Amino acid sequence: MNGKKCSMLSPAVSAHTKQLFRLDTNRPVVGSGPVLFGLNAEALAASMVEIGEPVWRGRQLAEAMYRQWVADLDGVTTLPKALRSRLVAGGCAIRRPRIVQTFVSNDGTERYLVEGQVLESQTVESVWMPDGDGGEAGDGSGADVPKQSNGENEKEWQRATICVSSQVGCAVNCQFCLTAKLGLQRNLTVGEIAGQVVAILDRHAVEIGKDRVNLVFMGMGEPLLNYDSWMAAVRLLVKEVGISPQRMTVSTSGIVPGIERLAAEPPEVRPKLAISLNAPNDEIRSEIMPINRKWPIEAVLDAVRKMRLRPRERITFEYVLLGGVTDRPEHAQQVARLLRRSGLPAKVNLIAWNPGPGIAYQMPQPEAVEGFKRALVAEGVPVYVRRPRGRDIFAACGQLKRTIEAAT
Ligand code: SAH
Ligand code: SF4
Repeated sequence: MNGKKCSMLSPAVSAHTKQLFRLDTNRPVVGSGPVLFGLNAEALAASMVEIGEPVWRGRQLAEAMYRQWVADLDGVTTLPKALRSRLVAGGCAIRRPRIVQTFVSNDGTERYLVEGQVLESQTVESVWMPDGDGGEAGDGSGADVPKQSNGENEKEWQRATICVSSQVGCAVNCQFCLTAKLGLQRNLTVGEIAGQVVAILDRHAVEIGKDRVNLVFMGMGEPLLNYDSWMAAVRLLVKEVGISPQRMTVSTSGIVPGIERLAAEPPEVRPKLAISLNAPNDEIRSEIMPINRKWPIEAVLDAVRKMRLRPRERITFEYVLLGGVTDRPEHAQQVARLLRRSGLPAKVNLIAWNPGPGIAYQMPQPEAVEGFKRALVAEGVPVYVRRPRGRDIFAACGQLKRTIEAAT
């Protein structure tokens, strides 16, 4: 990557720009000039003013990067050529993360390795699920929609879900999750989180405001343990890219301080919330999710209750069915009771456990999944069984692990 400083910036200006960058990413940029992708419109405007340009140059940059998805400064034709050259010569770059490898599943799901913004080689994983709601709608409305191909120029999908990562690896150490095996390698930057989305929108020529695309922050990592960068990326995606927060769902293992911060976000930028419940009681949950010893179920529910929900909004409770461990009929009864007592408008997404190397759980029997679902329905709990997507390319829930082993 470029090791030059943005030479047209005075030292003071340069420090300011870098500080803006640092504030937004919580991670210093090592050995590179200012990186633009990931900065919000205000930071871009401030940077332009400080190099003697009009304030609206920042808006032009934001429009180009986040609305038109221009990936190189040279392509920002709304800026005068001389300014573009000055910026490039000074070491500034958009540096929107690019998709460097694609794995295509036989069910249409695509898994991507997206290049890192700090170091290109530190790739990040994301998943595209055409015609599937990944369960986030909770009503099955996106499932099993037949593909309609009307010719080469027509889209082959009616709606799609993008699964976004927030960290490389994860520190939470859930016993059933492959990502946990990596440990936490690093937090993603704002530009890396928003960049996964923009790179994928661009690849599939998504029309914002027209196409039905949902974002789920359910990829690698625990979003609420990278709160500042994750939320800054959400704000960019809402305000600059133009995606409604009601089309976004963040999933958490139950990080109480993070849920409390989320509850305090204004509704115009707050994504919907999914809690990875995964167990019917504290005893089993602590066994499979050690984080439960720090924040047990009641503490999580207390934090969730602080959130002011939108009309008709429900909290999603994800529940991974581990054969023989969490999938018994009495577990379903306990879950129903727990949710009823919580007083929260809830829906449950059942996920049959996806196997991974080195993890000694069993997949649930199909009858157990069906029985669990029926028991919840009988108790009046809205429930949706998430169909596994992209298992053959290691793209399914809990299978992301920065690796190209599936391809080799
Ligand atoms: N860290 C966040 C978001 C990423 S995990 C969280 O835990 O919520 C997204 C979902 O995948 C979680 O609900 C998690 O419980 C589930 N999951 C993890 N490993 C899985 C596996 N092997 N099979 C099925 N679901 C899994
Ligand atoms: Fe981390 Fe979520 Fe996997 Fe748990 S399930 S280890 S929180 S990614």
